[in-house]
Amino acid sequence: MPAKTRPSLTILQALRTEQGGWQSLAECKGMDPDLFFPTPGKGYHNPLEVQLAKQVCAQCPVSKPCLDYALAIGEMWRGIWGGTTPQERRRIRKSRRTGTTCA
Ligand code: SF4
Repeated sequence: MPAKTRPSLTILQALRTEQGGWQSLAECKGMDPDLFFPTPGKGYHNPLEVQLAKQVCAQCPVSKPCLDYALAIGEMWRGIWGGTTPQERRRIRKSRRTGTTCA
């Protein structure tokens, strides 16, 4: 079985500025990607960065497709997508697999 690869951070960041589709309506379009993909070593996903990113996502008209996309591509380790942290997405994925609800 081939090894499962993850999209590179550059590709993930580019998706936020892609033309067409739900990405064109993204509230984060044109914003500093460091807000959503904090630089490792500088306090990856510190609470303030997460809170700021989530505030943007809360205003976003495409937060659901954004989250669905992140779950579909298996992006469980980097970035804020659809207002969720990687840890929250892993919890959502697990609850969907087991049929339980997230707390
Ligand atoms: S939900 Fe957040 S990360 Fe996703 S497109 Fe909207 S603003 Fe960007």
